[in-house]
Amino acid sequence: MERSRPSIESGPGRRPGVLVTGASRGIGAAIALALSAEGFHVWLNYLGGHAAAAEVEAAILAAGGSCRRLPFDVSDEAGADLALDELLAEDVPFALVNNAGLTRDGLFGLMSRADWDKVLDVNLGGFFLVTRKLLPHMLRRRRGRIVNLASVSGQAGRAGQVNYSASKAGLIGATRALAREVAPRGITVNAVSPGLIETDMTAELPLSAILPHIPLGRPGRPEEVAAAVAFLCSPAAAYITGQVLAVNGGLYL
Ligand code: NAP
Repeated sequence: MERSRPSIESGPGRRPGVLVTGASRGIGAAIALALSAEGFHVWLNYLGGHAAAAEVEAAILAAGGSCRRLPFDVSDEAGADLALDELLAEDVPFALVNNAGLTRDGLFGLMSRADWDKVLDVNLGGFFLVTRKLLPHMLRRRRGRIVNLASVSGQAGRAGQVNYSASKAGLIGATRALAREVAPRGITVNAVSPGLIETDMTAELPLSAILPHIPLGRPGRPEEVAAAVAFLCSPAAAYITGQVLAVNGGLYL
């Protein structure tokens, strides 16, 4: 039984390491801050938002945590490999949070091939490239946590988001399958599935049309999703794998 945090074994400053993708803002930034507060050394991935990422880094450092920025495009195999080689030269992270994601919404009949490919490449392909790179090292350690950010759109489907819903449903399938594959090596794989969370991604959505479908009557906050991710990375969640934990205010599926 896992009784204590695995902090003694890895990470700069002997903290357990976690790589959080898409951590410059929104949910990923909240996850980075929450995991830092739990004692993790945070590898902060993002695409190009250097100023925002620097703010997250500063907040982590100000709170007494440790952090390293690692910008790369999760959908670019060569770039991801290069950056992750740099990380792996220092540490094998205990946890990986695949959070980087984007939307390119539009009616399916009018959807361009580029918008289809982009969303699948980042949301699902990013999971593939980053996880495949780190997994062999985690397997050798025989411990670790992987948390994937899915979405209510991937569980229920959402009109205007066929590409996004497909990518998130794919992520849920991948979570369940990989959980079975790596469980014998002590690694858990779970998904957290947010509903409507107030971030840049949802800033344009018609809130008044969506709110009536949320029993708790309000959008969620990034910190409320981060708390679920932190739980799944904690010793208390050691026996939970292959699950999809919804953080959606009771949003009807
Ligand atoms: P957000 O505010 O738009 O932030 C997206 C983050 O992903 C940013 O840090 C961005 O980095 C990064 N990113 C985008 N493309 C990337 C790439 N190719 N490589 C590396 N990083 C990349 O999004 P969010 O609302 O926090 O969403 C976070 C996750 O939760 C996503 O997977 C999203 O699908 C999921 N989710 C969100 C909601 C919601 O209501 N907000 C609901 C369900 C699921 P830069 O700043 O450098 O661009």
